[in-house]
Amino acid sequence: MAKYVFVTGGVVSGLGKGITASSIALLLKARGYKVFMQKFDPYINVDPGTMSPYQHGEVFVTADGSETDLDLGHYERFIDEELNYTSSISSGKIFSSVIEKERRGDYLGGTVQIVPHITNEIKSKVYEAASTSQADIIITEIGGTIGDIESLSFIESLRQIRNELGSNNTLFVHTTLIPYIYGSGELKTKPTQHSVIELRGLGIQPDIIVCRAPQNLGEDIKNKIALYCSLNKENIIEAVDVKNIYQIPINFYEQHIDETILKQFDMKIKEIDLDYWKKLIKTVDNLSGQVTIALVGKYVELHDAYLSVAESLKHAGYKYQTKVNIKWVDSEKLEDENNLDNTFKDVDGILVPGGFGSRGINGKISAIKYARVNKIPFLGICLGMQLAIIEFARNVCNIKDADSTEFNELTSDPIIDMMSEQKAIVNLGGTMRLGNYECYISENTLAKKLYQQSVILERHRHRYEFNNKYRELLESKGIVFSGINKQSNLTEIIELKNHPYFIACQFHPEFKSRPTKSHPLFEGLINNAKNRK
Ligand code: GLN
Repeated sequence: MAKYVFVTGGVVSGLGKGITASSIALLLKARGYKVFMQKFDPYINVDPGTMSPYQHGEVFVTADGSETDLDLGHYERFIDEELNYTSSISSGKIFSSVIEKERRGDYLGGTVQIVPHITNEIKSKVYEAASTSQADIIITEIGGTIGDIESLSFIESLRQIRNELGSNNTLFVHTTLIPYIYGSGELKTKPTQHSVIELRGLGIQPDIIVCRAPQNLGEDIKNKIALYCSLNKENIIEAVDVKNIYQIPINFYEQHIDETILKQFDMKIKEIDLDYWKKLIKTVDNLSGQVTIALVGKYVELHDAYLSVAESLKHAGYKYQTKVNIKWVDSEKLEDENNLDNTFKDVDGILVPGGFGSRGINGKISAIKYARVNKIPFLGICLGMQLAIIEFARNVCNIKDADSTEFNELTSDPIIDMMSEQKAIVNLGGTMRLGNYECYISENTLAKKLYQQSVILERHRHRYEFNNKYRELLESKGIVFSGINKQSNLTEIIELKNHPYFIACQFHPEFKSRPTKSHPLFEGLINNAKNRK
C-alpha cells in the first residue's frame, strides 16, 4: 500500500509549497523509493489551459497531454519522473465529474452534497494517482492557503484519508512564513501558531512544519514553534531564503526531513544517493562565464509566464558552466523601436517562445529578422517557429501577405494555418494538439547534430501548423525542414543554412529540460551564444 504526504500552506501564498513538496519527493526518491506527485488546485476552471498567463503563469504540459499548473514543472524538474492526468486536479475537474455522474443517474435518489460526494471524488483522485503510478509514496500539494473557502473540501478529504489510513500511512507537512520585524529585529512565530490553530480547526494536526524565513530560526524559535504546535523539534524544518531553488533539497536533507518522514511511515531508512544533486549545486555555485539571452514575449512582466523556458536556459548554462542572464524584451514595445541595435546590442542570443493571439506579433517578427540578418543565435518555440517561417516568407521569399490565420483570417497566403482536425472543434478547453508526438529528424541537419537521434518525442500545445503548400518554395530559398511528424506530415523543426544557429520547433522543448539533463536545443543556443561572445 502507498504512503501519502500532504503539503498544505499557511499565512501567505507564494511560500514555495511546490518547491517544498518537490524537495521532499526528491529526497525520498534518493532514498530508493518510487515517488509520484500530485497537485490539487481550488479554482473552478477544469484546467489552467484557458487561463491567461497573467492569471496563472505558464501552463505546463505533461507527456500525456494534460494542461497543468506550473508547479508540475517544478515536480518534474526535481524528481525527473513523467507525471500525468492524475497529477493535476482542480475543483473544476472534481465538480464536473460529480455533476456528470449525477446526470447519468449514478446517485439516483440521493441529494448530491459537498460531503460526501465531492470529498469522495477528491479521495478517489488521491487513490487513483497511487494505483496508476504504483509508487511507494505519493506527495500531494494542496493549492491556496489554509483558511481559504475554496480549499475546504480538499482539506476535509485529506482529514478523512488520515482517519481511514492512520498516521503510519499519511503525513501532513504545513508550510508557513516566519516574518522578520525590522523595528525590533525579531523573527515572529505568531502567524505560524495561528495558521496551525486554523488547520487544527479543520481537524488536521500537522506532523511537520516547514518554516520559510529570511534567516536561520535558531534553537529558541524552533523550540517555541514545537511547543505551541505540539511537535518535536526535529519536526520543525527551516526553509531559509536561497538564491538557487535547487539548494532546498540539500538544506532539507541536512535537517533529516526524509528520515523523519520514513520513521513515521515505518519505512526503512535506506542509504541515500544524493551525490548527483550535490554535484549540480556545486556546478551552479561555480559558474565561470556568462551570456545574455533576449527572451522576446508579450507576458514578460510576469516571469512565471515563461518559467520552464527560463529554467531550461539556466540548465543549458550549467552544462557549459555559464550563467545565463535573461534580458526580458516586451514584444509590443519592440514594435515602436526603430533602432533594434539598442535592444539587442548587449545580447548573445535571441529566443522567441510560444504564445497566442495577435498582440506583439510584429515585435517578435522584427526580433527574428534581426537574429537572422545579424547571425545571432536564435531559438524559436511553437509560435516562435511559426513567426520565423512568416518572417522568412515575407522578407526572403517576398510573399508579402504571408501570415497565420490565427492573426489574419483573410490572408491570401496562409503560410501558417489551423490544423485540419482543429477546424471542426468548438470547445476551447483541452482541445489543442497536446502532449507527446514523434518527430523524425533528417540526416545531416543541425537538429540531428544536436539530438544525436533520428526519432524524438516532444510535448506539444498548439492549434496551428505550417502549411505544406509552401514547403518547396521555402526550401528552395534556404529553409531546412529538419524534423517532421510522419503520421500527419506536420513540420516539427526548421533551421537555416548559412547561419551559426537558427533553429525553431513546433513543440515545447522546455517541458523536458532538467537541471541535471539539459535539452539539446537550449544547449545549442547557449553554446553558440557563448562562442559568439
Ligand atoms: N498560437 C499558436 C498555435 O496555437 C502557437 C501556440 C504556442 O505557441 N503554444 O498554434
